[in-house]
Amino acid sequence: MSKKNIEFKTESKRLLDLMIHSIYTNKEIFLRELISNASDAIDKYHFKSLTEEGLENRNDYEIHIDIDKKHRLLTITDNGIGMTYDELIDNIGTIAKSGTLEFLKTMKGKDLKNTDLIGQFGVGFYSAFMVSDKVEVVTKSPFSDKAYKWVSSGEEGYSVEETQKDSIGTEITLKIRKNHDDENYDEFLEDYKIEQLVKKYSNYVRYPITMEKEREVPKLDDEGNEIEDKFDTIVENQTLNEMTPIWEKNKSQVTDEELNEFYKNQYYDYTDPLLNIWTNVEGKLTYKSIIYIPAKAPANLYSEKYEKGLQLYAKGVFIMDKCKELVPDYLRFIKGMVVSPDLNLNISREILQKNTQLTKIQQNLEKKIVKRLEKLLENERETYIKFWKEFGVNIKYGVYDNFGLNKDLLQDLVLFETVNEDAYITLNEYVEKMPKDQKEIYFGSANSKSAIKASPQMDRLKSKGYDVLVLTDEIDEFMLSIMNEYKKFKFKSINQGDLDLVDESEKETIKKQETENKDLLEKIKESLKGQVDDVKLSTRLTDSPVCLVSGEGMSFEMEKLMEQMPG
Ligand code: ADP
Ligand code: MG
Repeated sequence: MSKKNIEFKTESKRLLDLMIHSIYTNKEIFLRELISNASDAIDKYHFKSLTEEGLENRNDYEIHIDIDKKHRLLTITDNGIGMTYDELIDNIGTIAKSGTLEFLKTMKGKDLKNTDLIGQFGVGFYSAFMVSDKVEVVTKSPFSDKAYKWVSSGEEGYSVEETQKDSIGTEITLKIRKNHDDENYDEFLEDYKIEQLVKKYSNYVRYPITMEKEREVPKLDDEGNEIEDKFDTIVENQTLNEMTPIWEKNKSQVTDEELNEFYKNQYYDYTDPLLNIWTNVEGKLTYKSIIYIPAKAPANLYSEKYEKGLQLYAKGVFIMDKCKELVPDYLRFIKGMVVSPDLNLNISREILQKNTQLTKIQQNLEKKIVKRLEKLLENERETYIKFWKEFGVNIKYGVYDNFGLNKDLLQDLVLFETVNEDAYITLNEYVEKMPKDQKEIYFGSANSKSAIKASPQMDRLKSKGYDVLVLTDEIDEFMLSIMNEYKKFKFKSINQGDLDLVDESEKETIKKQETENKDLLEKIKESLKGQVDDVKLSTRLTDSPVCLVSGEGMSFEMEKLMEQMPG
């Protein structure tokens, strides 16, 4: 067969064009894409060798990386399934998924600098053109007598010709671009950079990813003894990736210490996490995950810049760092990872956006986390309080968010300070301690517990032995108004309306007194005109002579808050 020159299809051409003149800053992911392809190819070989005659079983699977600095060449070689002539044309010459292109078209001209374009819309093989101006693929399939060479410098098209290759598999050689302006390509020809990228993106690929590397070994004398402080440099094939990720190990064999190290390495924290939650789920939807709750909330947790999310792996290949679909807003502080073989993300990662499996995983994880927190609250109160002090506001927000959708799930995780208790208590504990005649759950809003204690409205409640929840966070009242009630007990603000704590005879007396003092009350009201709505005799005071109350609508604190809100 003579050499054939073939033009790219229009779609591929446009995509290539976008790739080459990439708006995209994260060029380094090309290596991940090529390694994933190599790993996929080995998977395919392995599978076929188990099921089909004539394919040698082997155990020397390897993905090898070679750097030729002088000629600016980076080569990735695998001993996977390779490609026949037709496969080469179909798979490498065409871009299967037009959805990606559609997306790119709509994004053209927009600022894509900070979007993880490839991360979300993997275009695999073509990403090689982000760093190279010529790509060569030499491949041999076990189902073809001949080997083929595919060459392209991107723009127009590619050529295919027969070539010589003895072993089965694929060799992809990139001619790395020269640096220009502020674009650095030289680094892709550095050992350390390649190693770093392999560790970052492909650490858990199941097959060894190897590279020739220099290593110092102790120099030996003639008798074979080490000479002190003398070294020889040897070059050897070294495996760069760890292959077995922590989550692939047997859970019972992984220590908490190992898990903490993993956390600190992966998520750039200096302190051990508060706790970890390790999940293995098998069945209709299979996934594993390790979730961490940090000991301390990061400083920027509530800023707009903070990005929530979990790392996502599909079959050991790193897909993205912050998959936000996996984390409900209120749990934005969690760190960790999810790996699932069910997420098939090979070519078009846009499916991620509306992926129902991801939603399912998110819901499962959420439940799991809440369960774990409930356990913590039950069994390790002190640790829970640590958690509460860091992330309590998030839980309250979770109750309030989505119109209270999650209130049943979360309400028992909320802790309160109260007027009577020295320690935090839950709503359930509050209710259990209520005197028999108490009909409502009382709360007061103020800047501090002592302010509530000192408020005149407390007099009555104190004498009745009723406790009062102390609300000091802005979100507290919103949360309670969304909850509306707990175990059929309504929430009642002590700053609001009539507390209705008096018995009938007392009411009678008040009524009588009110008629008797009608003129006086009218006079007071007159002189405070515009400042108060009404002047009433009160049953809520015992020690104080007078108090201000708000009407039945919003309470004082809520009113204050609403005033501060924009809009
Ligand atoms: P995807 O991997 O998502 O299918 P790519 O653009 O990365 O998309 O690759 C396109 C296709 O090219 C692959 O599906 C595969 O058929 C083929 N291919 C790429 N690299 C290799 C390789 N190293 N060995 C065999 N086939 C490959
Ligand atoms: Mg691919």
